Amino acid sequence: MERPHNFSAGPCILPLEVFEKASQSVIDLDGSGLSILEISHRSAAFVEVMEKARSLALEQLGLKNKGYKALFFQGGASMQFLMTAYNLLENKAGYLDTGTWSANAIKEAKNFGNVEVVASSKDKNYNYIPKQYEVPTDLDYLHCTSNNTIFGTQMKSFPTSENTPLVCDMSSDIFSRDIDYSQFGLIYAGAQKNMGPAGATLVVVKEDILGKVSRTIPSMMDFELFIKKESMFNTPPVFSVYVSMLTLEWLARSGGVSAIEKKNKAKASLIYDEIDRNPLFEGFTAKEDRSMMNATFTLKDEKLASRFDNLWKEANINGLNGHRSVGGYRASMYNALSIESVHVLVDVMKHFEKTT
Ligand SMILES: *Cc1c(COP(=O)(O)O)cnc(C)c1O
Repeated sequence: MERPHNFSAGPCILPLEVFEKASQSVIDLDGSGLSILEISHRSAAFVEVMEKARSLALEQLGLKNKGYKALFFQGGASMQFLMTAYNLLENKAGYLDTGTWSANAIKEAKNFGNVEVVASSKDKNYNYIPKQYEVPTDLDYLHCTSNNTIFGTQMKSFPTSENTPLVCDMSSDIFSRDIDYSQFGLIYAGAQKNMGPAGATLVVVKEDILGKVSRTIPSMMDFELFIKKESMFNTPPVFSVYVSMLTLEWLARSGGVSAIEKKNKAKASLIYDEIDRNPLFEGFTAKEDRSMMNATFTLKDEKLASRFDNLWKEANINGLNGHRSVGGYRASMYNALSIESVHVLVDVMKHFEKTT
């Protein structure tokens, strides 16, 4: 059976060779005769997996030997909404409100201190990234969301503020583009959008921003403790970390973030050019803020929806429905999605126009 073209927003497509290797390892990890699912997380084999995953993550972000540590947690990106505040918020934090995930992060942070929403795009259902705003100088940190998965906007540049660490939720575009990752004090990302299966969350933190809050932090929430225990304070999500390692190895073999960025740009241009050209569709977001990962678009005439839906389903496309807060369609084009799949979608859109 031919694999569907998977535009799903998350969990989502990973490289086929990663699926193949992972499925082999469920039976026999590298000739050991044991499954990745049955070995001790303290075994030499798994400690090596964990170390490799942490080291590859730093390497791919260009953050090796720059004072950063890579850690794996459970609980998803949503757990980081509160953990980051737990570890970093003493008096006041600033947040950019650019979508549902940002709003959730703001809600959680309010449990720990004052939160100032520095800028928001809520007035237009989050279809753009706010630009002209002042960053207050008295913040413990400033939090942003690099890619707004639901709405399809992506930050192309990031605010700077001297002595204010920048904390970023990169769940849906980490490892997708070549940017200066050292501008961030802390980056977090749920694995399930560009890195691996759900269950692990990557945190990359600059060590010198930690240890500044006066509250007692429970062990399972404590970044410093997890650094000391090399991400093995308790049983880590072994399978998710393992598959994340395989995906990071695939990324390294494929030329790293700069090579993958070129491919992601080509895929994004292809779909956005068609959205702009095709009179039946319109893009949801401001053009300058369009996401390379999640392209959101709607039909100008909603009555045509069932016909378009039939066409893309017949073309073996999966996961194109938009999130309920936007409606329409969302083509998620994560690292592992091939440009051929985007061609198939664009051809369906052209055929739909011709036959309408
Ligand atoms: C998916 C997503 C989340 C939520 O991730 P969970 O791992 O399900 O908690 C948070 N932020 C962004 C940007 C996302 O895309």
